[in-house]
Amino acid sequence: MNRVLNFSAGPSALPLSVLERARDEFISYKGMGFSIMEVSHRGKVFDELHNNAIAKVKKFYGLNDDYAVLFLQGGATLQFAQIPMNLYNGGVAEYVNTGVWTTKAIKEAKIQNINYKVIASSEDSKFDHIPNFNFSDDADYGYICSNNTIYGTQYATLPSPKCPLVVDSSSDLLSRDIDFKAHNIGLFYGGAQKNAGPAGITIVIIRKDLANRVKESVPTPLRYTTQIEANSLANTPCTFGIYMFDLVLDWIKDQGGLNAINSINQKKAAMLYDLIDGSDFYTAFAKPGSRSIMNVSFATPNAELDMKFVKLAEENAMIGLKGHRILGGLRASIYNAVTTQSVQTLCEFMKEFQRTHG
Ligand SMILES: *Cc1c(COP(=O)(O)O)cnc(C)c1O
Repeated sequence: MNRVLNFSAGPSALPLSVLERARDEFISYKGMGFSIMEVSHRGKVFDELHNNAIAKVKKFYGLNDDYAVLFLQGGATLQFAQIPMNLYNGGVAEYVNTGVWTTKAIKEAKIQNINYKVIASSEDSKFDHIPNFNFSDDADYGYICSNNTIYGTQYATLPSPKCPLVVDSSSDLLSRDIDFKAHNIGLFYGGAQKNAGPAGITIVIIRKDLANRVKESVPTPLRYTTQIEANSLANTPCTFGIYMFDLVLDWIKDQGGLNAINSINQKKAAMLYDLIDGSDFYTAFAKPGSRSIMNVSFATPNAELDMKFVKLAEENAMIGLKGHRILGGLRASIYNAVTTQSVQTLCEFMKEFQRTHG
């Protein structure tokens, strides 16, 4: 079999066993004679799969029935608009700007014409760290992005404000255990395609009472209340995406759960950062204390060498290492599905590249 080592930022690597299971069941789901894609989203078979997936997410994060787990469409990007539309409550919504994705979320808050405030930003240092801040106790909500996919920064721990916390977790979804109560999480969301499945579904975990803030002027399909009442079936959901997401949930359980996955992720990231910090050839973009264990953004001494690195890596069956066009340089995305062995192979390649080009 011809599989490359995949360090793509998103869509990104999926566990091989998940792909194999999907392949085996593609034509006949659990031997029933039809593909999961070919049956009604309201039928018994899909309904059971869907509700099991919701139960598994709730179990992983220890959520009670105060929370709803929704599988929506429109990407994380639609949430940038849907959040202020639904959660603004006539006070102030507070945002922390840590990169491209929060900048986009802030832009949508502005378009919604709500009273919002950017209370902290690391833009002055090109978003190389997570700034210090405190949300106001009485803010309508406090908005953060837990992992900044492009710059490779991440909250080592989430804040614990008195106001409801809103978290864009697109690129560190299901990578570590999160205590929703301790961090007063009101809404936690992410596109599945980075760390939890294929493109096409966005998971939104919302504290149900907050959904009631929505105003009459918000279109029905864009209200969380609509999808909570319909169990995400107000429109036909991305059934295949939910199926794949469910397979990923089972795979995480097989790895030992979120804490076990997190300790593997920590080790993988440490291998790369130790190599980078110990070399006079590579530099990491993110400042220590704010470094992502999902996306490692780094560079060689110059852009020409970065390009050579990417090309040579591809010749050695390693893809997805080019940095985002905004930041340049290199980026290794080492999501849940990227094995320790793959990161080891990348480290060996990096040492050899330094030896031959340093
Ligand atoms: C990729 C990404 C998004 C955008 O996701 P879409 O599904 O393309 O809308 C938003 N936030 C973060 C942190 C991301 O990594």
